[in-house]
Amino acid sequence: MPTTTATKPIYLFEEGNASMRDLLGGKGAGLAEMTGMGLPVPPGFTITTQQCLEYYKQGKKMPAGLSELILENVKTIEKKMGKGFGDPKNPLLVSVRSGARESMPGMMDTVLNLGLNDQTVEGLAKLTGDARFAYDAFRRFIQMFSDVVLNLKKRSFEEILSKKKKAQGVKEDSDLTADSLKALVSEYREHVKKSAGREFPMDVKEQLLMAVQAVFASWNNERAIVYREKENIPHDLGTAVNVQSMVFGNMGSDCGTGVSFTRNYNTGAKEVTGDFLFNAQGEDVVAGIRTPLQLSALKDKSPEIHQQLVDISANLEKHYRDMQDMEFTVERGKIFMLQTRRAKRTAQAAVKIAVDMEKEGLITQSEAIQRVSADQIDQLLHPYFPVDKKKAALEAGRLVAKGIPASPGAACGEVVFEAVDALKLKAAGKPVILVRPETTPDDAQGMLASVGILTSTGGPTSHAALVARGWGIPCVVGCEALSIDLEKKTVTAGNKVWKEGQAISIDGSTGEVMEGTIDRVSPSELTGDAKLILDWADKVRKLGVYANADNPKDAARARAFGAEGIGLCRTEHMFMETDRLPIVQRMIMAAPEAERLKRGVHRLELDVVEAAGHKKEELQHRLDELKKELAGPWKIYQETLTQLLPVQREDFRGILKAMEGCWVIIRLLDPPLHEFLPNYEELLVEVAEQRMLQKFADQKVDVSKVGKLHSQAEQKEREALLGKVRSLKEFNPMLGLRVCRLGIVYPEIYRMQVRALFEAACELKSKGVDVKPEVMIPGVGHVNEMKFTRDMVQEVAQTVLREKGVTLTYKVGTMVELPRATVVAGSLAQHAEFFSFGTNDLTQTTFGYSRDDAAGTFIPVYIEKKILERDPFQVLDSEGVGQLMRMAVEAGRHANAKLEVGICGEHGGEPHSIAFCHSLGLNYVSCSPYRVPIARLAAAQAALASQPKSGKSQD
Ligand code: PEP
Ligand code: MG
Repeated sequence: MPTTTATKPIYLFEEGNASMRDLLGGKGAGLAEMTGMGLPVPPGFTITTQQCLEYYKQGKKMPAGLSELILENVKTIEKKMGKGFGDPKNPLLVSVRSGARESMPGMMDTVLNLGLNDQTVEGLAKLTGDARFAYDAFRRFIQMFSDVVLNLKKRSFEEILSKKKKAQGVKEDSDLTADSLKALVSEYREHVKKSAGREFPMDVKEQLLMAVQAVFASWNNERAIVYREKENIPHDLGTAVNVQSMVFGNMGSDCGTGVSFTRNYNTGAKEVTGDFLFNAQGEDVVAGIRTPLQLSALKDKSPEIHQQLVDISANLEKHYRDMQDMEFTVERGKIFMLQTRRAKRTAQAAVKIAVDMEKEGLITQSEAIQRVSADQIDQLLHPYFPVDKKKAALEAGRLVAKGIPASPGAACGEVVFEAVDALKLKAAGKPVILVRPETTPDDAQGMLASVGILTSTGGPTSHAALVARGWGIPCVVGCEALSIDLEKKTVTAGNKVWKEGQAISIDGSTGEVMEGTIDRVSPSELTGDAKLILDWADKVRKLGVYANADNPKDAARARAFGAEGIGLCRTEHMFMETDRLPIVQRMIMAAPEAERLKRGVHRLELDVVEAAGHKKEELQHRLDELKKELAGPWKIYQETLTQLLPVQREDFRGILKAMEGCWVIIRLLDPPLHEFLPNYEELLVEVAEQRMLQKFADQKVDVSKVGKLHSQAEQKEREALLGKVRSLKEFNPMLGLRVCRLGIVYPEIYRMQVRALFEAACELKSKGVDVKPEVMIPGVGHVNEMKFTRDMVQEVAQTVLREKGVTLTYKVGTMVELPRATVVAGSLAQHAEFFSFGTNDLTQTTFGYSRDDAAGTFIPVYIEKKILERDPFQVLDSEGVGQLMRMAVEAGRHANAKLEVGICGEHGGEPHSIAFCHSLGLNYVSCSPYRVPIARLAAAQAALASQPKSGKSQD
C-alpha cells in the first residue's frame, strides 16, 4: 500500500520527485525527477496509484471529481505547449501510459496519439505539412484505443491493414499513401462500429477519460496478474496513469525513437547501449516487429543527439546511482526523455556492475551486495554448453542459424510455437523452446513455461528479450534466417525444416541455434566478480552456511561453493547405493525377526530367574528352543551389519576428509525401512503372476509365450520377500517406524553407524587430518528418546575412541522436526549440543500436510484460492512453523547457553526463509551444494536489510 501521505489525486511532473514512487509509480516518479533535473521531458501529469485503488473500490468507476481534475490539468499542458486539446487548428495530442510502482514491462496498457478526430487530424496534417503522417497517427490511434479501451482484437485491425497493403500492391506500412491511410481510417471505424456496437469516440475528452479508466483496468488483466505472481509483486498496489504531451519520432527521417541503457545489460560493460529506429513510434521498438539499429547508427547520423543522450545517461546514472534503462524520442532533431528506470540486466551484468560501481565509488560494498539478487546468483550456476561439446555440434553441421544473444544460458528443448502449447507440454514434464516471430505480453505464461525463447525478429530490447532476461530464461532474438510458419507449425532455415516437437538447442550467450540436444554441464565454482561479491557477503553475514551432502563429491563441490561445513549427511543415501542395497535388504529381512525373538529370549530369561521347580525347567526348555530359533536371523542380522560397517566407514572417511577442518553432521538412519525394499504392489503382482503360470505349467500348458517361469527356489525367495515387505508395510510410514524410533527398536543399526563414523574419524585423526564429526539424532519428540539414543551414541563413540587410543572433539545433537520437540525443547537441550531444524518434517507435522502429496494435490489450489500465499514446503511458514522454531530456540538456549542451532530442511537454501532464520538468530543454515552461494548472499542481504539506504532509490 502507498506509504506517502499525499492527498492530491494528480501531480504535474514538476510537482513530484523520485521518492514518490508509491504514489506516482515508477514511470511517473522518473518523469517527475527528470523534470526536476531540468532534462527535456514533454510536459504532463500523473494520476496517482491511490486513484486506481479508488477506481476499484468504486466498482471500476471513475472516482468522484477525478474527470474534472484530469481535464483541468490538461489545460496546464495546453498552456505549456501552446496547443489546444481538440483544437482543429493546433491540436495537442497526448499519450496515456500505465506505470506501477514496480516495473512490469509491457504487462499493462498504453494509448498513444490520443486527441485525434476528424477535425484535429486535418489540423495535424496542415501543421506538419504531412498528411501521410497525420493519417498514419490516426489509424495507429484507432487501432490502439480499440484494442485497449474497446477490447477489439489487434489482429483484426492488422488484417484490414494487410488487405489494404495487398490491394495497393505495397509491402511496407510506410509505402501506403495519405489517401490510402485516410481510407483505412474509415475502414477501421466501420470495423469498430460493427464489432463494438458503437461509433469510435470523436470527442477528445471522452477519449481521454475512457483511456484513463482502461489503463486503471489493465492493472488486473490476466498477464499483469501472472507477472505479479511470478515476480512477487503485491496485487494491491494499483497503477498510476501518466498523461503526457506527445512527441513524434515518426515525423520523418530526422526523427526516431529508442531505448538506451547506461551500461551493457548483457555484459555489464560501461558503455551506453541500446536500440534505435529512425522514423518510428515508441511501440515499434518494443513490439519487436522491426529489428532496430544499434545506437551507433544514431551516432553516425546525428552525433550531437547521440552525445546529448550519452550526457543525459551519465547524469541519470550518477543521480540514481544505478544503471538506467531510458526511453527517448527524437522529434525533428530534438531529444525528449520519456522514461528512466532501474535497468533489468543479466546475472553476469548485475554482478559486474555492482563490483564496478563499488570500485567507481558510486555505491558502497553493502549496496553492491544488495544489487545482486539470489536468483541472479542461481542463474550463474545454471548449466552451460561445454566448449568441446558445442564445438563438436558445430563441426557436425548442427548450427541452424545465429541470432542476437538476448538472455544468457544454454537451453535444449522441443520446438513449440504457441504459448498455450508450451504450457501443455511443460505440464507433461517436457522442456520446450518457444519459437515465434516475436512475443507479446499475451505470451507471458507460455514464456515462463519454456526453458528457452527464440524469435526471428526483434532486437535486444524487444518484449521477448526483456522478459526473458528478467526471468533468467535463455533467449535468442532477431534470428532472421528463420522463417516461422505459425499455421503449419514449422520453422525453416535454408532448406531444413523443423516441426513442433523436434529438439533444438539455443545458446543465449552467443545467439547460436543448433539442431538436436547438446549435453550441458553445471559450473563447479564461482569466479571473478561473483566470487568477490560473495566474499564481501561473507564479511557481513551473521549466519553460517553449511551444505547438505551425502558423499565426498558433493561435499567437495559444496566446499568449492563456500560451504563451511556439512549440516546434514543423510546416511540412508549410502544404504541405497546398488552395491549395498542387497546387503541392506538382507539386514532388513532379518532384523525384525531377530529383534522379536531377542525380546522373547530376554523376557523368558527374566521369567526363568523368578520361576522354581518344574516350572523353571519348562521355561528353561522353552528358552533353549527360542535361542535356537533366534540364532538364524540373528546371525544374518549381525553378518549384514558386519558387512555394512566397513562400507559405511569408507563413506564417512571420504566425507570427513573432503571437509577437513569443518564440522560434519552425520544423521543416523532416518527413513522407514520399507523404502529399501521392493515396491509391495509390484512384488505382489509378480508373485501372483508366477503362481498363475505355475498352475498352468502344472496342467502341462505351454506358458513360455506368456512369461518366464521362475525356478522353485526363486519363487520361494520372492514369496518370502513378499511376506517381509507385507509385514513391514505401515499405514502411515512417515509417522511410523522411522527416525530415532528405528534406532530404539533396532539399536544395532545405529550402533554400527556410530562405530563406522568414529573408526573413520580415528583413522583420519591419527594420520593428522583435522576431523570434526557431529552425530545427529533424527525425529526426537520425547526427552527419553533423546536420552536413550544419546547414551547409546556416547557409549559406542567412547568405546571406539578408547579402543583406538584417540582423543577427538565431537558433538551429539538432534533434529527438531516434530511440534512436540519444539514444545519440550528446553529438556531436549539439556542432552543435546545442537539443534537442527528439519523443517521438511516440521512443516509436514505442523500443518498435518503430507510432504509427498501436498504439492501434487491441494497446494496449487490453495495458492490459487489464496488460502495460502506460498507453498510452505518451499518458503518457510514464519507465522506457524516459524513460531514453533522461535519457541524452541528460546527454550533451548535458555536451558543450554552453548546450544548451537541451525536448519537443514530445504528452506535452508531459500532466501525468504534464510532471512527469517537470520531474524531468529540461528547459527547456520544448511542447504544443497548448488544453493550454498545463494545462501551466502541471502544471509548477507538479511543482515544488511535493516541498515538505512542512501541516495535516490528506485526500489
Ligand atoms: C527435514 O525433515 O527437514 C529433513 C532435513 O529431513 P528429511 O528431509 O530427510 O526428512
Ligand atoms: Mg526429516
